[in-house]
Order: sequence, then structure tokens, then C-alpha cells
Amino acid sequence: MHNFGWRASMRFPGNKTCTTMSTPNLRAIDTPAKGDSSPSDEGVPVSVKIRERIKQAQKRFHANDNIAEFIEPGELDKLLDEVQSKMEGVLSSLVIDTESDHNTQDTARRVAKMYLQEIYKGRYQAAPDVTEFPNVERLNELMIVGPITVRSACSHHLCPIMGKVWIGIMPNEHSNLIGLSKYARLIDWIMSRPQIQEEAVTQVADLLQTRMNPDGLAVVMDADHFCMQWRGVKDMDSRMINSVMRGSFLKDPNLRREFLSLVNNRKG
Ligand SMILES: [Zn+2]
Repeated sequence: MHNFGWRASMRFPGNKTCTTMSTPNLRAIDTPAKGDSSPSDEGVPVSVKIRERIKQAQKRFHANDNIAEFIEPGELDKLLDEVQSKMEGVLSSLVIDTESDHNTQDTARRVAKMYLQEIYKGRYQAAPDVTEFPNVERLNELMIVGPITVRSACSHHLCPIMGKVWIGIMPNEHSNLIGLSKYARLIDWIMSRPQIQEEAVTQVADLLQTRMNPDGLAVVMDADHFCMQWRGVKDMDSRMINSVMRGSFLKDPNLRREFLSLVNNRKG
């Protein structure tokens, strides 16, 4: 369920450039492929083929990067089989009798599907189709979207992160607008990857900045990290709040204050 709220106030700012994600810096990772790089690459795991393409393109493949453009048709099914077989290895190393234990017989397959098709799908699938509309009405008022529920997993422990995000947008006449429900789809695409909250808010801001080219952009994320509650210090009350302010939200303290007070009012 997403509850959207928004409100307006007047403002008239200048222009602003786009920020895009820069992704340099590659690190070599073990390559399990044995010999056989001949025309028939039958024995080569599909993950190795995908990884080689990414390296060739000198792109990054961190946990929260999207690698969809390097995956060829049909390869996701093969990746599913590969992850399943590696998960079987993990269960085996955990000394779980997956043959006799009816509860864990299909766990490896279920987990592989959950990773690739649900909770980490934002790594393997292209960005959702979202149409941007020109700002024909020349809206130049503060828009707030949220709270949008976000679900992710931390890159450190692969434990759940559950929280809310609020977006503030200050459009100008050159901005593009997107439909309210589309914010949730774009944000879900970013969050459906192993994430680090500080990096997640930046990725959300970069994506919306590129799509909308607003005059100002604000993102606030407030989330529970289950790795704090389930393990480690087992602190049930720990939450993390991150924000990113850009453009007019950075330059104009009144705008920033107005946005934050509206968000805080709705947090209740
Ligand atoms: Zn963690």
C-alpha cells in the first residue's frame, strides 16, 4: 500500500543540470571457468559469461548496480539454475539434510527464484517503463510524494531493510513530470537490490534527477535494518534516516525547512 500525499507552495528558481551515475573501477573476481574458451563454451557458467561482458565494457557490478544490459535472452533461466545449484551447496555446507528434510527439499530453488525474480530483481531487469511528460502547465510549486514503502536487503548481511521514503520535487518549465504511482515503481527498481541505505538514497536521487530534471530534488529515507534487530546488537529501536538535497533544496533553507516539516508532520 502506498499513501501518497502532496502539497504545494510557490517558488521560481533557475535551471539545473543532470547528475548521472558514474561507474568506474573494476576488481578482478575469481573466474571458475576452466579452459575451454573455444567456440563451444558449454561448460562455462552463465554468471561467468555475463561477468566477462561487464568487464569488457569496463562497467561496475557491485551489489546495487543494474546489469540487465549484459544479460542475453534466455540467460536468466540458466542463472536461476546456477544459483539454485550454488544454494544447494550452501545448505549442504550448513549440514542440512535437504534430501530427508521435506521442509528444505526445494529451498535452494525457492531462494534462487526469490533472489533473481523478487528481492534482487532490480539488478537483473531493465528499468520499468515510465513515461515522462513535459511540464506544459509550467508547474513551479513544491511537490511532495510519500510515504512510499521501501523493501530491500543490506549488502553486508543480506538482511531485510524495511522503510519509507519521501520525495520532494521543485519543477521548472524545462522539467519532466511522471505519474504518482511511477515513483514507487522506479524506487522499487532501485531498492530491489542488495543495498546500503546511504547509497540507495543517492541512486534514487540520481535516477529522478535524470528522468525529471527538476530545479530541486529532495529524498528522505527512514528505514529499519533487520541486521541490527535480528543479529549483532539486537537493538529493536534502531532506525536510520538519510537524506539527499539537491539544487534549490540545497540553496534555499526555507524550501528545505518547509519540505522537512511537511514530511515530519506526515510521519506522525
Ligand atoms: Zn547489515
